[in-house]
Amino acid sequence: INFNSYFLMNAEEVIPYVKAKTDFFDNEASLSCDEIGDGNLNYVFRVRDEQAGKSLIVKQAGDTARISDEFKLSTNRIRIESNVLRLEGELAPGLVPDVYLYDDVMNCCVMEDLSDHTILRTALNEGRIFPKLADDLTTFMVNTLLLTSDVVMEHKAKKALVQDYINPELCEISEDLVYSEPFTDHNSRNDLFPSNKDWIEENIYGDDQLRFEAAKLKFAFMTNAQALVHGDLHSGSVFVKEDSTKVIDPEFAFYGPMGYDIGNVIANLMFAWSRAYVTNADEKYSEWLEQTITDSVDLFSEKFLVSWKENVTDIMAKEQGFDRWYLDTVLQDTASVTGMEMIRRIAGLAKVKDLTSIATEEQRVTAERICLTAAKQFVLNAAEYKTGKQFLEVLKNSA
Ligand code: ADP
Ligand code: MG
Ligand code: MG
Ligand code: MG
Repeated sequence: INFNSYFLMNAEEVIPYVKAKTDFFDNEASLSCDEIGDGNLNYVFRVRDEQAGKSLIVKQAGDTARISDEFKLSTNRIRIESNVLRLEGELAPGLVPDVYLYDDVMNCCVMEDLSDHTILRTALNEGRIFPKLADDLTTFMVNTLLLTSDVVMEHKAKKALVQDYINPELCEISEDLVYSEPFTDHNSRNDLFPSNKDWIEENIYGDDQLRFEAAKLKFAFMTNAQALVHGDLHSGSVFVKEDSTKVIDPEFAFYGPMGYDIGNVIANLMFAWSRAYVTNADEKYSEWLEQTITDSVDLFSEKFLVSWKENVTDIMAKEQGFDRWYLDTVLQDTASVTGMEMIRRIAGLAKVKDLTSIATEEQRVTAERICLTAAKQFVLNAAEYKTGKQFLEVLKNSA
């Protein structure tokens, strides 16, 4: 068995692969390997040397999506993921897994095993509290977004990064699933929750103003090469444990609007809040979630303005008041994307467990309508929301 030309590996083949390609394990070590992927696109293997207590992760990209051969996808996405993880690791130390190897033949990223962490979505659905979450995620976003933008980077170096991270196929997935399909049923794959079907047809498909705003946002997503965004920053792309936060899976990364990441974080916290609301979750948990939503906006703004002072290099960006004006545009985009993400996870193909696993029909209907009602406010009145308190109020007033 050699690894000089590409094939999709199974768990047994990954063991000789890591022995051949890395010196992470002793040559004599007895290794075990399991496929642990739960995402839609890729294969994730965990390789362990139980005796030495060492382990690593191999993520391999296929040339179709794992869920369906219908999605043809270039394996270039694992190059993007590996390189972006390395860059994010420099910009936001400690907040992403270490990358041990990127293999452009086998289309693998070999990285740190984070199995002592839990996927945030799973942890939220269990009602667990993570005191550092908002602090860590806002640091991650300010550092990876502001520091890759034109206000900080030398402009030719920034354009070189734009070129490195042209990501047409994965961008197309977002253009379709976030910015098009949830507003019509032309592709007949939205698979609406039957008890909310009429409501969505009337209030989403049937709202001309909403669809008009969505159209504007689609072309902003496609043309505003503002910063290197993660591009898929939902709660399935964040690993947490008590005192640690790690962002994974940046294969959708590209140069886009900063608000795309921040809005994804906030929308996914709002799914968790809606679930907690309809299921009468523990009060301490709901309070922490609300604080985390407000902090995600306010700590972002605070840290953004501090980092601006320290890092901005462009001469015109130093004009009096430009920092606050720029931040306001980012917050407006954030509100828009919060709404778009909430709509697409209910009225589009890719649903979230927070809502789909709600046990009773009545509770799920209510949770979905809370999210969609809030989402419409965010999309229609995006320029109005500048503080965490305002973001949270839109949600709570929809309940
Ligand atoms: P996909 O791109 O297919 O969504 P992800 O990178 O999200 O793949 O990984 C899928 C799953 O594999 C994660 O939800 C997690 O359970 C597991 N996983 C991914 N990366 C790691 C890691 N570094 N350490 C431990 N588990 C991981
Ligand atoms: Mg994923
Ligand atoms: Mg996943
Ligand atoms: Mg992914």
